[in-house]
Amino acid sequence: MLDVGRISVTQACELLERGECAAEELVAAVVAAVRERDVGVGAYLWLDEEDGLRQARLADEARREGWRGRLLGIPIAVKDILNVRGHPCTCASKILRGYVAPYDATAIARLRAEGAIFLGRTNMDEFAMGSSTENSAFQITRNPWNQEFVPGGSSGGSAAAVAAGEALAALGTDTGGSIRQPAAFCGCVGLKPSYGRVSRYGLTAYASSLDQIGPLTRTVRDAALLLEIMAGGDPMDATSLNVPVPNYAAALKDDLKGLRLGLPREYFVAGVDAEVERCIREAIDTCQDLGAEIVDVSLPHTEYAIASYYIIATAEASANLARFDGVRYGFRAEGATDPLDMYCRTRAAGFGPEVKRRIILGTYVLSSGYYDAYYLSAQKVRTLIRRDFEKAFEVCDALLGPVSPTPAYRLGERVGDPLQMYLGDIFTVPANLAGICGLSVPCGMTASGLPVGLQVLGPAFGEEKILRVGHAFESARNGQGRGTGF
Ligand code: GLN
Repeated sequence: MLDVGRISVTQACELLERGECAAEELVAAVVAAVRERDVGVGAYLWLDEEDGLRQARLADEARREGWRGRLLGIPIAVKDILNVRGHPCTCASKILRGYVAPYDATAIARLRAEGAIFLGRTNMDEFAMGSSTENSAFQITRNPWNQEFVPGGSSGGSAAAVAAGEALAALGTDTGGSIRQPAAFCGCVGLKPSYGRVSRYGLTAYASSLDQIGPLTRTVRDAALLLEIMAGGDPMDATSLNVPVPNYAAALKDDLKGLRLGLPREYFVAGVDAEVERCIREAIDTCQDLGAEIVDVSLPHTEYAIASYYIIATAEASANLARFDGVRYGFRAEGATDPLDMYCRTRAAGFGPEVKRRIILGTYVLSSGYYDAYYLSAQKVRTLIRRDFEKAFEVCDALLGPVSPTPAYRLGERVGDPLQMYLGDIFTVPANLAGICGLSVPCGMTASGLPVGLQVLGPAFGEEKILRVGHAFESARNGQGRGTGF
């Protein structure tokens, strides 16, 4: 059977086009890989084999009739936070148990219009709050490279599915690193688009000023393709921008001549794991060999990013999650005596501990008397962080650094210590606060066999640049560092 664990979306498209494989075989191979491996990995929350095969047969039929789409017959796994019509959407929370999405998110609709197939939902931290996927209300997901380790989060199911060969590509969301960090921990490519690049319509909101949808893939070329299809303005999301979508694939070249890449001083500090630092330094050398000019830059407000992020994200979450009250969506607690009692019981039983912690924190920082001290200050810091990046991008095209200060850690190691967990987001949250784009590309392995990710940050709507850097780097390394945990 076809080894879906090794091929990219681009290669699968070629196989389909040449008639060397049918979409039905491709979907059957994905289902077989899930059946074989997911007992251990736990990447999926839900899979509809029958409907996946039905969509595949329709794709094969459409192809025979001469219809073409850029993703005709390609199955894509979806984080359980994005609406796919007729599929459950639980956000890995008990409070959305039983909820079935009534419509397609715009990102999904655009991929579907190109022939993509949707058959599975991937695990995540509840409402995307977390960095290890251990906050899912339903199951943990294990890192395919070493099942004692976390896959990262919150899009850990999507990253693990791609790394374990249980999906060719997957969608995730990134509010503070949730695409880039699991991609780094699992050895796949993860792209967080600039704020406003991809419509958020049909995405369950966590922090609306930070959230973005993006792809997790096996190659940078695949990420470019998926982004190109999903990107662009949407009347259903007023925060999406109507900026023309470039041909991202055309920006991919094999060298980095004429590009200036900045190394933010604050991303190379004590606290970064020695093996991560070694991999990043080697990656920088590779970029230099490819013709890039390396310059030093500074992002002086980096140290305030975590504090600012965890105030703004929780404040927005406390408002966004108010809608889960037992009236309109999913779960409702039994035995209530009046409506207020029903809301309280539903939310007490429906939300997990991390989500409750954040709703309480977010409500607190927005409350009268504390608003100025916390929320308003955090917004001011956010502006300073954005300006740091604007200044840096005056002297360079993109920035290089680690995605995470450490490789994947052991299951259970941080989940009891929220502050420790939050601090791991230090290099990813600044991009969300600033609205810029970021890419995670595999750049090596630790001695114990865990992947390390190189982060490439680019200016707002500068995805062409980071994709070019990521692709040239990946080609120079022959895709080494990437692959599957099997
Ligand atoms: N780890 C961060 C958080 O817990 C980011 C999560 C995300 O990007 N969704 O908020």
